[in-house]
Amino acid sequence: MKTSNLAVELLASNPKVNSAQLFYLGAKRKINLAKSIPFFAFHATALVSLFFIDYSLPLIALCLGMYFLRMFGITAGYHRYFSHRSYKTNRVFQFVIAWIGSMSLQKGVLWWAANHRHHHKFSDMPQDIHSPVQSGFWWSHVGWILSTDYDETKWDQIGDLTKYPELVWINKYHLVPPILLGVGLFLIGGWNTFAWGFLISTVLLWHGTFTINSLSHVFGSRRFQTTDTSKNNFVLALITMGEGWHNNHHCYMSSVKQGFYWWEIDMSYYVLKTLSWFKVTSDLRGPPLHLLETKKITK
Ligand SMILES: [Zn+2]
Ligand SMILES: [Zn+2]
Repeated sequence: MKTSNLAVELLASNPKVNSAQLFYLGAKRKINLAKSIPFFAFHATALVSLFFIDYSLPLIALCLGMYFLRMFGITAGYHRYFSHRSYKTNRVFQFVIAWIGSMSLQKGVLWWAANHRHHHKFSDMPQDIHSPVQSGFWWSHVGWILSTDYDETKWDQIGDLTKYPELVWINKYHLVPPILLGVGLFLIGGWNTFAWGFLISTVLLWHGTFTINSLSHVFGSRRFQTTDTSKNNFVLALITMGEGWHNNHHCYMSSVKQGFYWWEIDMSYYVLKTLSWFKVTSDLRGPPLHLLETKKITK
């Protein structure tokens, strides 16, 4: 980790400064143009492809299918399992869900989980790496990913996961699953299948996921008092398979359910619950609603 002079001075004057504070102070908070080129080129290719591809129901269904499959990998895998350990599963499914999440081209599972744990520790505080309050909307949405500030996996946040060599492997070679997916789709169905199933689907998936770091801290309602600006948002919950209940989640992050009540649609939870009937998942942790009553915001 690179640290700025300010960070070094701070550490010298106060040995209690922790690594997260140093991490923030060492950050330049600027996007790196060279690193951003593949990201923008991917968007441009997806956009241009819209003018040349075929349009049909099966192709659009493929696009949506690849979107929701990989969104599940992110929400049920990267987020609710690896970041929060809110349910249990076997080692094979643990790797499968890491693989599906990796297909979303959102970097490695351990990198993602470590950054996310850091976000919960410092939500909307100066150390938060993607807070719209601290650093602006676009930074929280995409800027932080395009900077070189946070490229390193924060190993100190994920000691419970590094004992699995297959997770360390897939974290390092996180580009293998998406490349195999893209090549596979092209070999199966040619350019149309590749464009709908990979290019367009991935761009939608990126921005669908990013809304949780940006819009979910800006638009929506707040049920619970939390130390951050997290909101509950029905529309975001639909496009992110339940992650839009972000205020619920910040209030009680250990719950596998993010929709705390029956009317709060949470597709990821429904799938995980279904998998528990087949013994693939177990120990699904729910929110202790009676304890959370005291945190409710009363008008
Ligand atoms: Zn958040
Ligand atoms: Zn979380």
